[in-house]
Amino acid sequence: MGLAAALTGAAERGQYRIAVPEVGITAIVAPNVTLVGATRFLGLSAEIMEAWKTDASGDGAELLLEAAGRSCYQSWHNPAGRTNHEYIASIIRQGHGSVLEHADYSLYLRGVSRALTHELVRHRAGCSYSQLSQRYVDSSDIAFVVPPALMGDDSLLEVWAEACRASLAAYVRLVEGLDERIADRKRKRECARAVLPNCAETHIVMTANVRAWRHILALRGSEHADAEIRRLMAVILGVLSDTVPLFRDYVTEAGSDGVPVVRVVAEE
Ligand SMILES: Cc1cc2nc3c(=O)[nH]c(=O)nc-3n(C[C@H](O)[C@H](O)[C@H](O)COP(=O)(O)OP(=O)(O)OC[C@H]3O[C@@H](n4cnc5c(N)ncnc54)[C@H](O)[C@@H]3O)c2cc1C
Repeated sequence: MGLAAALTGAAERGQYRIAVPEVGITAIVAPNVTLVGATRFLGLSAEIMEAWKTDASGDGAELLLEAAGRSCYQSWHNPAGRTNHEYIASIIRQGHGSVLEHADYSLYLRGVSRALTHELVRHRAGCSYSQLSQRYVDSSDIAFVVPPALMGDDSLLEVWAEACRASLAAYVRLVEGLDERIADRKRKRECARAVLPNCAETHIVMTANVRAWRHILALRGSEHADAEIRRLMAVILGVLSDTVPLFRDYVTEAGSDGVPVVRVVAEE
């Protein structure tokens, strides 16, 4: 079986990484996203809870956001008779964005490239990051993220895989070569990582509030964004949408290059 068929098959089976023994590398064909933290609503005073008319229940962040919004106007009795969803949609329409900052979601992202995280960490407002250290962690078995545009193209995949193999071999040789001069493993790795490519895999925990996630999903999910980060946004939208009903105005569509795009649709 050719490389293209092996990688496409892995992606179709939902496998995010696959060993390619012919070349001696591990290839990544999709991002791996785990929700590791989510804000919960813990309630208000008994008096307010009794007065508050909302159709939402439980401890989801949608209640926290409605509570934060209503606290501005003390409108617990819900004079406009809005559902929770209608209330938050109205907050968003008005541009009352700070209300959305009260709920955070933390994701553990694996199977993403250093090129991708370089773009991701440009988002500052409302975001926090903890990323795998290439100085501390050995990279001699690091995996490489296949650029989406190469999927399905046997001859270009071979060029890519060979470049990854060569950079990995250079990394290992540099670490071994520095053995005599440098005892500190971190010092050896910080030097040798210079030859790892942009597509080297990294892991990152990212926490962002709902306002920031909505901004990032729109920006990095758009057709103008890099294909790998756009693909990640589609997965993140799925994970967040399964968790909290605060992204109903965001949809995933097929992009013209076969990689999904995230689009914001106007709410009624
Ligand atoms: C398609 C695309 C191409 C790009 N190309 C390049 C490139 O070639 N080179 C490059 O360097 N970068 C590039 N970027 C990165 C881009 O310029 C931003 O740095 C990045 O997208 C972070 O977004 P943000 O500024 O909205 O930051 P966030 O931190 O996500 O900020 C959210 C919002 O808060 C407000 N805000 C945040 N910080 C400030 C501030 N300091 N002052 C005023 N308002 C603020 C803004 O309204 C901002 O939109 C690109 C981004 C995209 C999506």
